[in-house]
Amino acid sequence: MSQLSNFGMYKEFMIKAWKFRQEIRQHQEWMEKYAAKRGYTLNPHKMYRTNLIIWLEENKRLYHRQVCPCFEASGEAELDKQLVCPCTFCETDVETKGSCHCGLFGRAEYTEEDFRDAEAKVMKSYRIPLKWQGDLLDTTGQPKDALRGLPVPDAMHQFKQARNQRAALDFEILCEEEQSAQNIKAYVLQEGIRADIRKLAEGWLLRLNPEGER
Ligand code: SF4
Repeated sequence: MSQLSNFGMYKEFMIKAWKFRQEIRQHQEWMEKYAAKRGYTLNPHKMYRTNLIIWLEENKRLYHRQVCPCFEASGEAELDKQLVCPCTFCETDVETKGSCHCGLFGRAEYTEEDFRDAEAKVMKSYRIPLKWQGDLLDTTGQPKDALRGLPVPDAMHQFKQARNQRAALDFEILCEEEQSAQNIKAYVLQEGIRADIRKLAEGWLLRLNPEGER
């Protein structure tokens, strides 16, 4: 991981942790209550947990429902309903793997070390070497999560990683699904950045236009 990437990620985290400080407290409260009610342990690592909450809050603002921080909205109404955190997959994940997909909730007996292991697995599957072809980020062809049928990492998470690696939003993004291209388009529009989407044989091409006006 480049220095630019590390610095970019840390800077972005600090800015968003401050911006969403009130929402972070509110999410933390319901998460503690939910964990107690279900007999789960809430991930005790503040920085990791806060990062998940920031992504959750971003998803809430983007999709108008608090879609799981590790996935983007699929555009399928029933699946997106199931993805609302705490998701309907949480119980199966905790039973079979010990923690939910994102490593936010774990079994009652989960230790700090167990959560470290769960986090390491999440980071390994999400912080992948990105597929760059010059100025094109190819997000297609990622493995699918067995329960949800959604790619890990999805196009949105790859885009968020990519923008921390680049000095500017001067690249194009190839997405497998039109919904992913639409999600990223809506995400950057929140910052006043326009984007165009084009259908190609290989998927959906998103071209960012950081100079463009809303
Ligand atoms: S996997 Fe965990 S963090 Fe993600 S929606 Fe389910 S319960 Fe929430």
